[in-house]
Amino acid sequence: LSTYIAIALDNSSLYKKVHYNANYDSLTGIYNRRKIIENINKLKERSDYECENYYIAMMDIDNFKNYNDVNGHQRGDWLLTRLGEVLRNTVGDLGIVTRYGGEEFAVILYNQSEDIALNLGELIRQNIQNTYFIGQEHQPNKHITLSIGVSTYPKVAKTKKELIELADNALYRAKSFDKNRVERYYNILDEIDPSIDKKSLESVANMLNNINMKDKYTYGHSERVVIYAKKFATYLQMKDKDKKELLLGAYLHDIGKLEISKELLTKREKLSESEFNILRQHPTLGSDLVSSIKEFADVIPLIKYHHEKYDGTGYPSKLKGDDIPYLARILTIIDSF
Ligand code: GH3
Ligand code: MG
Ligand code: MG
Repeated sequence: LSTYIAIALDNSSLYKKVHYNANYDSLTGIYNRRKIIENINKLKERSDYECENYYIAMMDIDNFKNYNDVNGHQRGDWLLTRLGEVLRNTVGDLGIVTRYGGEEFAVILYNQSEDIALNLGELIRQNIQNTYFIGQEHQPNKHITLSIGVSTYPKVAKTKKELIELADNALYRAKSFDKNRVERYYNILDEIDPSIDKKSLESVANMLNNINMKDKYTYGHSERVVIYAKKFATYLQMKDKDKKELLLGAYLHDIGKLEISKELLTKREKLSESEFNILRQHPTLGSDLVSSIKEFADVIPLIKYHHEKYDGTGYPSKLKGDDIPYLARILTIIDSF
């Protein structure tokens, strides 16, 4: 009897409907979040067994709130459906496309090279930007665009949970670099100086993570300053030792903000003079914070003097011209940029 019921159920439209709802997103018709979690679980097992990498690309629509506000929520729903179609057409058989959340999509690729994963991300980015969508003219850059973050299991992420977290982290970096970008996850500490004791670096990385919790901007900003510092140091053909100091200084320059309240760091209104005075303490607070770590002795001047100005109107010491250490001057340029 149970076999009979199972066969009958299998053919019933109710079963098909339940099955559909469990796996597909009712708005866009592509796979839903449950389905991607299921796939991540399956692929992890396969990847552990076959020693292959798999990739996840997390995507978030840029400025979608504006699109909804200007064109209406229904048009927003329409856009989600159209984006699902473009994604599916672009990815084809290479991977699995899902709607991960409200305005977030995820694609997983199995057993491909990192180049293929990143190139596909780039192709998706371009296809979306180059497709015409009704209402796009009211978007800030007159196009519908996505930001994309890519991560890999097991090469980079060591657990399923970490795979999603790191792809999210890369997505956040893509957003903070002006959006409409593909970023692969990497640990910024690997960019700095491989010869520094990892323990010291990690202790400050933890401090910076605490800042991240208070003020996401400062953290993303510190990472961006490191990335620009690297490019600028190469452009200036800096000596290796200077380059390392500059990158470490770039990473740590705002660490003093750890001692400043969240309210002040994230205040949107203009700061009062007394609030500004508190904020102006961050270079000194930062240099005091790292002064006990001997590996960081060389970068103390960068932290302490990154708000000095060439004409002597900066803080905390009102240094002028060449009295400001060279690397601190370079850092100020990058920080301001
Ligand atoms: P960013 O570029 O930083 O991602 O900015 P954003 O405006 O896209 O992001 P934000 O998180 O501020 O807003 C996301 C918006 O997505 C808010 C929410 O109304 C909208 N959204 C989420 N799910 C749906 C949906 O199912 N349909 C529609 N129409 N809008 C949705
Ligand atoms: Mg979002
Ligand atoms: Mg968005």
